[in-house]
Amino acid sequence: MGKIIRDIGKAEKENFELIITGGGIYGIMLLLEASRRNIKTLLLEKNDFGGATTLNHLKTVHGGLRYLQSLDLVRFRESVNERKWFVKYFPEYVSPMSCIMPLYGNGLKRNSVMRGALMLNDLFSINRNMGITKDKKLPGGKILSREKTVEMFEGVDTKGLKGSALWFDANIEEFQRLIMSVLRKSVDLGSVPLNYVEVKELKTENNKVKGVKCVDVENGEKITFSGDVVINAGGPWSREISTNFDKDFPELFKKNLMLWNILFDRKALSDCALGLTPKRGHGHTYFFHPWKGRLLVGTGEIVVDDIKNNVKVPGKEINKFIDDMNTAIPGIDLKKKDILKIYAGILPASESGKLSKKPVTIDHSTNGGPAGLYSITGVKFTTSRLVADKTIKKIFPDRKPSGYESIFNIEEDHGDISFKYDQNVNEESLIKLKKIVEEESVLHLSDLILRRTSLGENPKRALDSIEKLRPIFTGDKKWWAKEKSDTEKLLKMENNE
Ligand SMILES: Cc1cc2nc3c(=O)[nH]c(=O)nc-3n(C[C@H](O)[C@H](O)[C@H](O)COP(=O)(O)OP(=O)(O)OC[C@H]3O[C@@H](n4cnc5c(N)ncnc54)[C@H](O)[C@@H]3O)c2cc1C
Repeated sequence: MGKIIRDIGKAEKENFELIITGGGIYGIMLLLEASRRNIKTLLLEKNDFGGATTLNHLKTVHGGLRYLQSLDLVRFRESVNERKWFVKYFPEYVSPMSCIMPLYGNGLKRNSVMRGALMLNDLFSINRNMGITKDKKLPGGKILSREKTVEMFEGVDTKGLKGSALWFDANIEEFQRLIMSVLRKSVDLGSVPLNYVEVKELKTENNKVKGVKCVDVENGEKITFSGDVVINAGGPWSREISTNFDKDFPELFKKNLMLWNILFDRKALSDCALGLTPKRGHGHTYFFHPWKGRLLVGTGEIVVDDIKNNVKVPGKEINKFIDDMNTAIPGIDLKKKDILKIYAGILPASESGKLSKKPVTIDHSTNGGPAGLYSITGVKFTTSRLVADKTIKKIFPDRKPSGYESIFNIEEDHGDISFKYDQNVNEESLIKLKKIVEEESVLHLSDLILRRTSLGENPKRALDSIEKLRPIFTGDKKWWAKEKSDTEKLLKMENNE
């Protein structure tokens, strides 16, 4: 697969048909969709690829069960199709995940209502397994008896328990490898992704896009790249970028909704993801995921002002969150000291503070802005490819895409790397990690630990592994000392609390 080479000088000499600002999942999927249409594309990311909101997502590729409640069949079908896309083309990283929701006979959460919902879910997603290998197929849902529910989730609150709903979604275990796989495929197809390049200004002539002016974050040098079309896919920074390039478009991100998941140093409660609603309180359902055998719980949310450069969940919100967990499961007794890692990010919300329902695309030229400038924001990781496909199709209607089958060789052996939760770095993994450092634009130790592999998903293990990684980096003693200390701070959550 294509190697990601950070050759800024070479990229400066080229004229790109498309430049993407922002290397989160939306920018990365835009790169893939442009690349498969043979559009010469440059992607610029100010930090590391997928390192902002994208890194913090719950790693679930959602089908559409939640959209059935509002009978939003369009979003339902889109989600099911996109889930299928991920399972079909990345079977080595994406697996079916069973989910259970205990039922207590209240409101919609009654056995009869949920039985109907699960039947509709299966019926409307009848094609969900088409083209998917046997071991990755998603079975249909069903209602489990009270006894079976207790067997599958011992800690369930049995008071008033009537049974549970069982359905299947998909889970990305080696999420970082999936991201790198998409980037490397795009390189294979002729595109250029560059990390640690911050886009500062738009270059225009006669109100037409000509390129972007940037700074190399590694050395502060100014750089200019030439291109005919620019898409701003800056996620939470999209309004700021839009304002710098042209003007503000509040609809891109009306309000900032901070979402978070917390990984606890506890064994998972079940092999299934559990959808649980604390009996007292606001009726919010939390998911207790078995993340590589550990307990990952989400999702908490609050509307915040502008804290995009330092996403910290306030201490009182963490206390409330833990309180909710302890109310949802009798006897679990989670404590703040059990927290291993907090995953937090900012998503777009409506004026009323509810998570936005739809992606937003703006063609700046239709509002008097430069021709060739577009801005997009999306809401879900799951539908990022679809949004990218539609956007590129609209901007480059004459460019025909090659099929995914010709791009993703399902049988291909990526010689890839995965880490079980407690698995340490050994001789064999070190060889693979060295290859990653050489081939995937790894500039910093934290790139490798947090954004190329799942090593950092177990912060204790990652801290223990740091010294073993020293031989695969060529930087000098001073460089290593700084990298080590910066990474240790991240892993010890010194910037998170
Ligand atoms: C806690 C949480 C859980 C979630 N769980 C799920 C889930 O289970 N399933 C699901 O489908 N979705 C989930 N999501 C949603 C999903 O993560 C987001 O929709 C998605 O990651 C947004 O990606 P993005 O590319 O728009 O933004 P980002 O990932 O934030 O990317 C934007 C990028 O732009 C870069 N950038 C900004 N300014 C510049 C500049 N001037 N120059 C260059 N680069 C720049 C930033 O550094 C950043 O990397 C979750 C989100 C959160 C926060």
